[in-house]
Amino acid sequence: MLFTWTGNPWVDTGIAVIVAKSGKERIEDLTDSDFDTVVSDGLWLAIANRQLNAFTMVVGINSPLTNTSLNPSMKKENRGKLNHMEDPGLKQYCNLIKELKESVLENSCGTFTCESCGERAATDVLKKYKKEIGRDWFPLAGSIGSDAQMLPAASRTARICSLCLLSIQFLPLGAIIVGGKIACFQSTHMELTQMFVGEIFNETVNRLQLLKIGEKLSAVGQGKGTKESLIMLIKIMGELQQNKRMLELPHHASLNIWLFSNSGQEPDCDVVEIPNEALVFLWDVTRSYRQEIEATLRNEPKRIDFQLLECIKRKSDYYGFYPYRGVKPASKGLFELYHAKILENSAHSLKLAEWLAYQVTSRLAEGDKNDKKFLSQLLKENAYGNKDKTVLGRLKGLIAQIAEDGLFTLDDYTVIFPKEEKVYPLSVRKDAFKWIWFYINHKDINNIKTEGGDTLFTHPLIRSFARDTFNYYQRERGIKYIKRNILDAFKKGEIATSDLQRWFINLSETKDDYTNEAWDDLCRDANGNNITTEVRFQFRLEMANLYRLAMTENKTTEGGVIK
Ligand SMILES: [Zn+2]
Repeated sequence: MLFTWTGNPWVDTGIAVIVAKSGKERIEDLTDSDFDTVVSDGLWLAIANRQLNAFTMVVGINSPLTNTSLNPSMKKENRGKLNHMEDPGLKQYCNLIKELKESVLENSCGTFTCESCGERAATDVLKKYKKEIGRDWFPLAGSIGSDAQMLPAASRTARICSLCLLSIQFLPLGAIIVGGKIACFQSTHMELTQMFVGEIFNETVNRLQLLKIGEKLSAVGQGKGTKESLIMLIKIMGELQQNKRMLELPHHASLNIWLFSNSGQEPDCDVVEIPNEALVFLWDVTRSYRQEIEATLRNEPKRIDFQLLECIKRKSDYYGFYPYRGVKPASKGLFELYHAKILENSAHSLKLAEWLAYQVTSRLAEGDKNDKKFLSQLLKENAYGNKDKTVLGRLKGLIAQIAEDGLFTLDDYTVIFPKEEKVYPLSVRKDAFKWIWFYINHKDINNIKTEGGDTLFTHPLIRSFARDTFNYYQRERGIKYIKRNILDAFKKGEIATSDLQRWFINLSETKDDYTNEAWDDLCRDANGNNITTEVRFQFRLEMANLYRLAMTENKTTEGGVIK
């Protein structure tokens, strides 16, 4: 017969274990005879399952393999005294496994179709042993004795085929335990599922071989949240990369991690979805930053919206990469990989933020006591969001100073602080303050200012407003006036909205662009209030740039109006 995937994550995990144990790499290559050899007389499976904690988690405590009434050797008082091979339960289990195997190979027809795979005929092998299909045979199938857990429709037991039933018995060998639940990996690309399960199976078998008789293989993983799933995923990816079983991820592959618990009074099931971009990111991270990401994940906070997987899914910035509360920040490489793959920020904008961080750090480090104190404030906390508002003000002042020195332009500024779309008055995204904070906390930052990249335009009026104002005062009052009454006044914090308004009205007398609507668009919020912080800052940057250009020109040509 032809073996195929069923779509049920638990059955498919079991089938993948059978494929892995056969030594074949793909389900298509699994033959009847391979299947016959793998299942054999059921004894290998019985002995392995008895040692696996995961087995009890998959099928509960009533399996004929493990319940103590049929298996006296498993009673506490008999441990080490009775031969476990003599247990009637174990023999019954092996017989059942053998009969299920034969039923699979016969591939016989029946009245009902399997409610798990929808392919093969439901089996009555269990009935012969006076057993019903309950959750001790199929996860979450419920049992006839327990209304609350009985599916479907609390009227009868589930109808399942022999292959699905048998696969479940192999499931514990290919599943891991995450947060106290059984975890199965299911991918849109089943070759990925096969590799993952194969990896887990190999490790389980290796660990089983190290066990002494009577010992149990304990469940790995405790705690809650998604981080353990990720740690495990990274571990598996690491193995696949190390033994070169998989060189690249299949294109567009995504992954679901099914977490279920089938024992106790509260059986339940969760799915953790890992979208393609997350998978690609994790694959690259595993290759280059494995130890680092594992350590970061281990220290992850309990709040789910601060956890990496959640941030990846929401495409939001990840808390764990920043130096909050004095924690060491992520390496630049890991940080930049996350920004490139998940947040889709350009490498150019990050490099520019890094360069700016270098400028800020080196200037302050060379400064006086006050500067050094300010630098330590910048190291400790993101300037944007600092309760002490003077910190952000001082940082912006320093950025303006760098602009006055001719090193930083309004174009540069818009690359790292892009304009927020459809937001009035003019406003920019503030993420880059966090990036600067991140880079300031690194010793290995670069003093290289990259050129090029996408220039993101700010409000078009900003540039002409600054230029027109500059030209006006240069003509009317001379360049010294601009230095003293505009640039220096900005530095002292003396430029208010009223100054901006005065310049604007002044220009409106001679130029058409300076209308009431243009002012509203640039400076007024929905309630009609003037909010000009951002406009003033960008105006100041452009002014600084124009002043510097004019001064350089003055040196060579004796002045002239800037066009
Ligand atoms: Zn089936």
